[in-house]
Amino acid sequence: MVCHDRFFVIFLMVMAEKTNLLKKQNLSSILLYVSFVFFFSHCVLSPSGNLTNYDSYFPHHNGTDPIPKGKVRATFLGTSSILLDDGETQILTDGFFSRPSIWKTAFSKIESDPKTVLSVIEKAKINRLQAIFVCHSHYDHVMDAPFVAKQTKAKLYGSSSTLNVGTGAGLTSEQMQKFIPGKPITIGKFTITVLESKHTPPFRILGKTNATDPNHPNIESPLIQPVKAMDFIEGGTFDFFIQHGKNKILIKSSTNFVEGALDKFNADVLFLGIAQISLQSISFQDEYLNQTIQTLKPKLIIPIHWDNFFKSLSEPLEPNLQLGDDFDANMSSILKRTEGQKMEIKLLQGFESIDLF
Ligand SMILES: [Zn+2]
Repeated sequence: MVCHDRFFVIFLMVMAEKTNLLKKQNLSSILLYVSFVFFFSHCVLSPSGNLTNYDSYFPHHNGTDPIPKGKVRATFLGTSSILLDDGETQILTDGFFSRPSIWKTAFSKIESDPKTVLSVIEKAKINRLQAIFVCHSHYDHVMDAPFVAKQTKAKLYGSSSTLNVGTGAGLTSEQMQKFIPGKPITIGKFTITVLESKHTPPFRILGKTNATDPNHPNIESPLIQPVKAMDFIEGGTFDFFIQHGKNKILIKSSTNFVEGALDKFNADVLFLGIAQISLQSISFQDEYLNQTIQTLKPKLIIPIHWDNFFKSLSEPLEPNLQLGDDFDANMSSILKRTEGQKMEIKLLQGFESIDLF
């Protein structure tokens, strides 16, 4: 992820702190401050791009027809939640569906919303799910995974932090498996290899950072929801290399890389986390895309983690908010670096599908 979650939480906490300080100020100062907060919020809480400018990149396939034999259908469920289905077996990354509002996330404890998660399970026809792979343990990736696992009887795969979220939600150890990076796992006709990666670089806002505390890099004990968003500690970040027959998929949710980690791989399809890429230095952007697109040489690139996950999945997805991201600049970073190459770029709306290969 890119942790806009944490970004907004920090921002709002700082705002709340400052509002508290103003209690002792005079009325005109307070009005001035409130006006500032209102106008600032109005600007930064707007989407950082207009999807109508990218309409040609959307295949707009709703996936209600049967999956053609031998194909793998991918359905986008927001952030880096992707359902892969070959008609026999389904596997899912993350499965974050509750998407609490920005205000709830900032000011109260959060937890899986059963009604919302069940409605997504039904709408996306998640009915043959065998496994859930969680790329890291921030709330916008892991929060609903245990509930989905319980509901579907799928196995939860993740880091020790993810497994602590699973245990806190009542999953048994038999229903969970800790990642062993580099060791392939076979599920139906899918073979998944978990690869160590890195989280999107941390950022600083109003003097506070979202960086993982090096003294507390993992969720060390069962996490029982509801909890604060900040209690979902990253716990390591992972990519997924997925083979299906002769076809290969790489799913990278966070905008970062371990140098050389993908050198021995190639992929037909790359699901690429693009959040906050344009906020990084030009040299980082070049290296990120060298280490992913130019190394894997995919025929198809599907950007992920571009949507504002404070909005419900039942509404059309919108780009991340201006506070913390720039969708237009992220897209142009990708488009510029793939120009003239034989690579297609496709975006998917929530619940939209694409038949790969
Ligand atoms: Zn994250």
